[in-house]
Amino acid sequence: MTDNIYHYDVIVIGAGHAGTEAAAAAARLGAKTALLTNNLDTVGQMSCNPAIGGVAKGQIVREVDALGGLMGQAIDATGIQFRLLNRRKGPAMHSPRAQADKKAYQNYVKYQIESQDHLDLRQESVEDLMVIENGTERRIGGVRVRGGAEYRADNVVLTTGTFLQAIMHTGEAKTAGGRAGEGTTAGISGALQRLGIEIDRFKTGTPPRLNAKTIDYQSVEEQPGDDQPQPFSYLTGELSLEQLPCHITYTNAQVHELIRANLDRAPMYSGQINSRGPRYCPSIEDKVVRFADKDGHQLFLEPEGHQTQEVYVNGISTSLPRDVQDKMFPLIPGLENATIMRYGYAVEYDFCPPTQLWSHLESKSIHGLFFAGQINGTTGYEEAAGQGLIAGLNAARKANDLDPWVPTRDQAYIGVLLDDLVTAGTDEPYRMFTSRAEYRLLLRQDNADRRLTPIANELGLITEQRNLRFAHKMSQIELAMKILKKSRIDQTAGDTYLRRPEVTWDEMCASIAELREIDAEAAQQCVYDIKYEGYVTRQKMEVEKQQRLATKRIPTHFDYHQIKPLRSEAKEKLTRVRPKSLDQAKRISGITPADIALVLAHLEQKTKKPAVTPGAESPDPSSSHP
Ligand code: FAD
Repeated sequence: MTDNIYHYDVIVIGAGHAGTEAAAAAARLGAKTALLTNNLDTVGQMSCNPAIGGVAKGQIVREVDALGGLMGQAIDATGIQFRLLNRRKGPAMHSPRAQADKKAYQNYVKYQIESQDHLDLRQESVEDLMVIENGTERRIGGVRVRGGAEYRADNVVLTTGTFLQAIMHTGEAKTAGGRAGEGTTAGISGALQRLGIEIDRFKTGTPPRLNAKTIDYQSVEEQPGDDQPQPFSYLTGELSLEQLPCHITYTNAQVHELIRANLDRAPMYSGQINSRGPRYCPSIEDKVVRFADKDGHQLFLEPEGHQTQEVYVNGISTSLPRDVQDKMFPLIPGLENATIMRYGYAVEYDFCPPTQLWSHLESKSIHGLFFAGQINGTTGYEEAAGQGLIAGLNAARKANDLDPWVPTRDQAYIGVLLDDLVTAGTDEPYRMFTSRAEYRLLLRQDNADRRLTPIANELGLITEQRNLRFAHKMSQIELAMKILKKSRIDQTAGDTYLRRPEVTWDEMCASIAELREIDAEAAQQCVYDIKYEGYVTRQKMEVEKQQRLATKRIPTHFDYHQIKPLRSEAKEKLTRVRPKSLDQAKRISGITPADIALVLAHLEQKTKKPAVTPGAESPDPSSSHP
């Protein structure tokens, strides 16, 4: 350090869900990393719902964990209600979700960050980005913080969440701020604009929080967690924290009437908010308008922890004025006397359309500048964590002159997320769904470690403890398979017998004593491997077919304008996104199979004629290894 100038390999801005994973991943790789954040008391804070996981999101958390990330262990240490969703459906749909003790979660994450080697956590508000120009090339050189100090690094990861030029709305009242009680970040938006980075605007909302002591729990339904809660992390043995129930109540015609009567005061309807919010997570005023025929909506009363009476009312996100929120709850069964501890509000913020990034989340126009989390137009802690880990990993790899690594669509939900974002962008806050993944049967929550942990080991992302644990599980699976193959039940080989849909593992253990020694986790993998073998094989064949198409690479600076018959819209979109392969090109919204056929024909013609313009095939910085 000289005169308030600090030097690092990687700087991460913002210690939310993306930033903490990014910083931890970079530091785990040995990069000298700084994590700069506005407020040390909000590291890993859950801005909204005190829960981790859910449909498709739970799978992402398992993947983050399999890659050595923080989120799985954090929720296991602090979860107060665990449920495996979609239990009655097939294993591809099983999705873990858990309520968190919100403060305990934050403290856990902060402690992990503080304890991580090669990582400095510091309270700093970043106000400007320092970019070095060299002819037409631009690269990041560091950041300037409030008070003037400079942090210099060749790799910077931006994870500022909802804080860019943010405005919070509650009825007619507007306040600047990225989250209740916290200011906004105008400087970075200005810097991004000056650098020519495209910026757009989204909105999201949050519901009111109630005081538990004022809720009549006799009048609402209890929703307990699972009898045998399943941890998120592959490293967690037993879950130890006392479990709490959630509760369910409903809105009704009277509530909807009150909302309708006040729609002109709702910022979404009065014209005060123009930006787009998440369609699948509508505010209560949105639900009343869009589903006008419904006279009740489910509300989940979710405790925020063991040391607080605050209750999060899931399902009633709103930006209606305070007086309307005050009048709403007395009309809802069980909440007649409930007192509001925090009012609901909506927040509008800047984000940077992610088509400006390579799939390893580095900017296409400024070398070394990475973006992860809500700043990329996503919503949700899990989507942020997955991106953060990839951005941090690749920032550290770049610092060591290594090629980036990005999971593919058949390897991880995180791969689907990255590919969707950089290829198609998003015109509403992007949330992961199982329907976004074409290879759901491969991307199950139970096999995230088998998909990713060996790669994480090669990348240097995981500890020896995790590696040994994984090796033990694999040896157990191998042993179980051997026992099954050599055993006979009713003259049928054990593995063939288990293939029958009605046969359970417990029945197998009753007949084959040696199987009783196999761990439950390995046993479950054997059951899935055997029962779903046919489906999985078919899906793998489909992956191979797609890979043949995907291997048709498109040179980075390929000139689409030379394909005369290509539609102007297709030329413009392909030039903007710069897909790496035909497979990626075909997923760009608005690109038709006919466009792809033209590009393919052109590429094939070119390969037949070796006389390609020199330099046209410049190295693609986002190629994947290993
Ligand atoms: P965040 O978790 O927001 O973290 C950003 C971090 O950057 C913060 O620590 C902040 O202090 C720091 N920071 C910002 N600017 C600077 C700066 N200049 N210098 C230093 N540090 C800085 N998600 C859902 O899935 N469903 C919802 O219903 C939902 N509702 C939401 C409602 C509200 C009001 C808010 C605020 C968020 C909501 N979210 C919701 C989004 C969810 O909180 C985010 O998707 C998730 O937290 C994003 O993680 P992140 O790491 O990108 O950003």
